[in-house]
Amino acid sequence: MSDIRIMRIGHRPERDKRVTTHVALCSRALGAKEVFVDTYDPKLEENIHSVSENFGGDFSVKTGVKWQDAVKEFDGKVVHLTMYGRRLDEALPEIPKDEDIMIIVGAEKVPPEVYQRADFNVSVGNQPHSEIAALAIFLYLYTGGETLYADKGGRMTVIPNERGKTVVENIPR
Ligand code: SAM
Repeated sequence: MSDIRIMRIGHRPERDKRVTTHVALCSRALGAKEVFVDTYDPKLEENIHSVSENFGGDFSVKTGVKWQDAVKEFDGKVVHLTMYGRRLDEALPEIPKDEDIMIIVGAEKVPPEVYQRADFNVSVGNQPHSEIAALAIFLYLYTGGETLYADKGGRMTVIPNERGKTVVENIPR
C-alpha cells in the first residue's frame, strides 16, 4: 500500500479545533502517515503527538503548511474530497494503490484552484456532510480497513472486548 497524506485546508484554530483533531485521529487510525494543516496550531500538534506517544505508530502532524507547498513537494496523486466531485464508486478503481496519495479536505469554501489542481475530485455521496465522515469512508474503502486493528507498538494497546475495557501497558524495550 502506498503512503497516504492528508491536507486539511481552511482550519480556524478556535472554531475547528475539535473537527481538525478528529480529521487527524481518523487519518491516523485508518492508515495515513501524515497530516498537514494550513494554519499554525501548536496545541493541535501537541494533542496528536501525545496520542501517538501513548498508542504508537509514526504518524506525524505539521501545521502552518500551505496546500500549494504541500502539493508542490508531493510526488503522487492528489485526491480532493468534495460533495461536487465524481461518484466514489466510479473514481475509486482509478485511484492507484501503488502510488502515494494526498487527500485534501476543506472546512469552509474551498478555492477553485484546489479543484483544478486535484487529479481526482471525489464525492462521498452528493449530500453535504462532514470532512471526518468523508475521509473515514474514503480511507476505509481505499485501504480495505486493514490498519484498524494493526498493532502500532505504543505504550498502550487496547484489546477488543465484548464488555468492559481491556488495556495492556507495554513494557518499553
Ligand atoms: N460548502 C463547502 C464547500 O463548498 O466546499 C463544504 C464544507 S464541508 C463542511 C467541509 C468539507 O467536508 C468539504 O470541503 C469536503 O472536503 C468534505 N465533504 C463534505 N461533504 C462531502 C461529500 N458529500 N463528499 C465528499 N466530501 C465532503
